[in-house]
Amino acid sequence: MNFFSNSKSLGILGGGQLGKMLLYVTRKWDIKTYVLDPSEDCPAKLACNFFFKGDLSDFDTVYKFGKQVETLTIEIENVNVEALEKLEKEGVRVFPQSNVIRIIKNKCIQKDFFKKNKIPTSNFNTYKNIDQIKKDLLNKKIAFPFIWKSAVSGYDGYGVKAIYSEKDIELLNEQESLVEEFIKIEKELAVIVSRSENGQVNSFPVLEMKFNNDINQVEYVLSPARIDKKLYEKAKDISYKVSECLNHVGLIVVELFLTTNGDIIVNEIAPRPHNSGHLTIESCYTCQFEQHIRAILNLPLGHSKMKTPAVMVNLIGDENHTGPVYYKNIDQILAIDSVIPHIYGKKETRPYRKMGHVTVLNSQIEKALQIAKKIKKTIKVISK
Ligand code: ADP
Repeated sequence: MNFFSNSKSLGILGGGQLGKMLLYVTRKWDIKTYVLDPSEDCPAKLACNFFFKGDLSDFDTVYKFGKQVETLTIEIENVNVEALEKLEKEGVRVFPQSNVIRIIKNKCIQKDFFKKNKIPTSNFNTYKNIDQIKKDLLNKKIAFPFIWKSAVSGYDGYGVKAIYSEKDIELLNEQESLVEEFIKIEKELAVIVSRSENGQVNSFPVLEMKFNNDINQVEYVLSPARIDKKLYEKAKDISYKVSECLNHVGLIVVELFLTTNGDIIVNEIAPRPHNSGHLTIESCYTCQFEQHIRAILNLPLGHSKMKTPAVMVNLIGDENHTGPVYYKNIDQILAIDSVIPHIYGKKETRPYRKMGHVTVLNSQIEKALQIAKKIKKTIKVISK
């Protein structure tokens, strides 16, 4: 199938920053794109050929949108999977496949998938309602402290809570959820694995994610991860196993915990490009977005090796500001060597909203991290 300069088209469900960065690649290669997103103001709108406003969880909207394209992909997993199944049956190439999205979209199903495939992960129990959690506490089947996660619609830590007491339980919303063992984490890692339709597989350097624990959000990403060779290879092996068991087409990002005991276990998977891989745009020969496009269009995968170590820092909305966005002091950081800001184009800032990121390239990773920390202190994402 040749997508270059012909009438075939690629559809993307979701028009956020991930969609926008996927479109850098389709623009480069002149691939015709359609984007569906609920917001007219979404970051990807300007870069696609055809924009459609609509609800990603609505069967008819997703189905009608998908019927217009040759290949359909996602930049967010909360989409109507039934519509994708029907589109697949009718010959649309849907990547990642609907069954992969179905597994990943629901954290309970995802954890069961890890268990069934003997993929190392934290101990867990799944629950249909909060009363069942209370009963299991009474029966001593689970105990404080633990991590509670909503089964669906949680992202960037919004559906994750550390639970220490009965009082914390009273604050939980009534919904399907997961209770996980509280893991003592040494480092959080991520491995991006690409798999094309003809089975070609490769991965990017192992990434290290540094979290802001107060808001459960990634603050810095380092490439390569600062771990020894044995752990590095182990992280890759586990991630390749996940990829093989899922048999996906496109990218997956395997998020891992290196525990204080020195074990590596899987936290969760994302079936698409991911915040942890943004730095590949400048630091690798092929970036995560191009690799995803190559994989889903069944093109040869690119060289995913690192050109230079890098650190990425997320630009998130200041906790005290809501309204039209202003990037205070961005000119100061533009003056620093090998520092590349990305602004997503969201009109409104909100507390902790991801508004952009900055990549710092430096042959010494510690130096890059130092610069990234300075950038974080300098730029403020506020509303004037
Ligand atoms: P999201 O899908 O919202 O990103 P995650 O499942 O990745 O949610 O959890 C967000 C963060 O919460 C993790 O990156 C980690 O820092 C922390 N976390 C998640 N699960 C556990 C656990 N079982 N034990 C300790 N911390 C955890």
